[in-house]
Amino acid sequence: MTKNQAETLVERLKNACNFHRFDEPGVYVEYVRALARFDYDRMEQAIDEIIEEDSRNVPPISVLIKKYKGVAGTKGGRLEVKNEQYCAVCDDKGFLILEELMKIGEDNEGNPVTMKYQFVYHCPYCAVGSQYSYEGSQCKKRSDYRVPAITEVLPDEAINDIYRKNLKKKQQNNNEIKARSLRDITLAVGKDVPEAKYFDEFIPGDAYEGDIDPDIDPEDMPF
Ligand SMILES: [Zn+2]
Repeated sequence: MTKNQAETLVERLKNACNFHRFDEPGVYVEYVRALARFDYDRMEQAIDEIIEEDSRNVPPISVLIKKYKGVAGTKGGRLEVKNEQYCAVCDDKGFLILEELMKIGEDNEGNPVTMKYQFVYHCPYCAVGSQYSYEGSQCKKRSDYRVPAITEVLPDEAINDIYRKNLKKKQQNNNEIKARSLRDITLAVGKDVPEAKYFDEFIPGDAYEGDIDPDIDPEDMPF
């Protein structure tokens, strides 16, 4: 959702509940920031349900998110997180894949045999990316598997380069969409002009004036 939508929801909580802490420094901003990561309609529904259950206190953010998860028609059971702003590092995907040639052995002559491997890295710059940060060693079922941040393996210049390329592509796409919709509107206007002219001449109540056949006796007409 947008920041404005998040603010609307926080205002709802503020007005609907008897007690809130939104006047304390930082609380309001923190709620807006937290809610903005989710889908507006679903979060609104979650808030509806919470208010129905108890409208004394504004629930903590964690409760809002839990309720949201319950409400959310999750994709594959996963909570859907969206970026508030476009992330040009990962193109809003949350992860980046790098291909690397890895030595997997040697041939008979002792030359290295390589294979192309793909490695996944999470984007540390956005909300979607934080979903993909995974540390096997931190999990209940420990493993060595982890999805490190792209910043661990690429230098700043390379990340800047990806950023610029994605941003340029995004802008090009936006421009194409704009050009297309403008063209469609122009076409539609051209097509609708004759009809619009017809309706301009139409005056309600006077529709049949002058069109009545003079040979028909008004007495024979049904009304
Ligand atoms: Zn990102």
